[in-house]
Amino acid sequence: MGIRVRFAPSPTGFVHIGSLRTALYNYLFAKQNNGDYILRIEDTDQTRYVEGAIENMLNIMKWAGVEHNEGVLIENGQVVQKGDCGPYIQSERLNIYQKYINILLEKGEAYFCFCSKERLERVREEQTEKGETPKYDGYCRGIALDEARKRAEAGEPYVIRLKLPENKDIVFEDGVRGKVTVNTNDLDDQVLMKADGFPTYHFAVVVDDHLMGITHVIRGEEWVISTPKHVYLYEAFGWDAPVFVHLPNILNSERKKLSKRQGDVAAADFKNKGYLPEGLINYLALVGWSPEDEKEIFTMEELIESFSLERVSKSGGIFDTDKLNWVNSHFIKEYDIDELTRLAIPFFTEAGYVTDEEALIKFDWLKDMMTILKDRLSYLSQVKEEAAIFFNDDVKPVNEEAEETLKLAHIHELLNIFEEKIKEVDTIDAEFGKITFKEIQKETGYKGKDLYMPLRVVLTGEVHGPDMGMILKVLGKEKVLARIKHVRENFI
Ligand code: GLU
Repeated sequence: MGIRVRFAPSPTGFVHIGSLRTALYNYLFAKQNNGDYILRIEDTDQTRYVEGAIENMLNIMKWAGVEHNEGVLIENGQVVQKGDCGPYIQSERLNIYQKYINILLEKGEAYFCFCSKERLERVREEQTEKGETPKYDGYCRGIALDEARKRAEAGEPYVIRLKLPENKDIVFEDGVRGKVTVNTNDLDDQVLMKADGFPTYHFAVVVDDHLMGITHVIRGEEWVISTPKHVYLYEAFGWDAPVFVHLPNILNSERKKLSKRQGDVAAADFKNKGYLPEGLINYLALVGWSPEDEKEIFTMEELIESFSLERVSKSGGIFDTDKLNWVNSHFIKEYDIDELTRLAIPFFTEAGYVTDEEALIKFDWLKDMMTILKDRLSYLSQVKEEAAIFFNDDVKPVNEEAEETLKLAHIHELLNIFEEKIKEVDTIDAEFGKITFKEIQKETGYKGKDLYMPLRVVLTGEVHGPDMGMILKVLGKEKVLARIKHVRENFI
């Protein structure tokens, strides 16, 4: 069988940017090897259930273009499951876990534990007081299986724990970190089945990865400390363990784990700001993986070709927003302009510049605007500020330099001739601008800064900005005349 990998999120309601990268690396590795990439939902912790979480997560993965073809999918807004190894939602697999827990119990690799919360608490306190690392003290390890079953049937609450052998080295080879060895004396008799009949993550993940034929487990480094327990479970069942690859965390500029408190960490935050999926994905691929050459801009196809687990770094990758912006602005510049305009419309409407209906009617006009603005954008919600010059007719000089510009001695002469030329034609566009500026230059002798800067301030309030010809085209004759009048009356 070929390579099979999985992304196994818990439905917490949002996809952390680090999880999106984990999913991406799984996806790239699978595609590169013509393997399968599966999405499984790990919802064994029922206390963390969030309404609509699965849909939200699947929609974000779809948006990002990191798409699986097996497991839990969204089709026409509905959550569906596809593939031969289902169900792919853990809460629908409880009978499977029951079957496998019985196998472990029969083999003597697991045991019933009837300890009360209070007792466990007491043991933990005593251990902490003695300066020991708290762990289960094995109180129920010796209870015979048939006696334990009787107690359970009689209604006594219980959990099922893994029976780890004493003083045994568990060794596995991690794809990023190399050989990892942990002694069972440093591990706890992990709970495998909880009192509510749900498996713990540790048990479910092993059973599922095995039954789903997963060959490589590629996941975040927070799971590396749990992996020895998983490896032991594979051994206990007599199954071959998959290859484990633990990815380093994504860190903030202070080298701490990226956390919600510091701003954007959910993939949806970046979507909502108007990052393009292509830009975000390209950038994320580079946080923790480095290509063999200096190349920095990649399409998904190119990532699939170039990606390699061998070049994933051992240390955490720093999330650098400036670099993300640089990568994203590259994709914005290259994007199909119709599509880019469509993607920007929600931000035009959000700013109150146009209604949804106007956006449809005036699509070409917005497209002209995007043609001008796109070189200035790192992400699309910036159109809210960048496009303000086109919607705010109440032009004011924005700073001292702009105010000074309006005081130039030749401002009246310039405005008069400009105004006249505009009045002579029906419509104005970029071509008109080009010709007109040349004519004015010839007729008055003003050129360069002396010509463009005053006119720019009159039309936009700003000293710098996009191409003047395009500004004329987007504003149109009436608005240009109105703005000249407005500025002349108020500021000159
Ligand atoms: N459900 C785990 C998570 O939320 C997945 C860990 C794994 O990939 O094994 O991150």
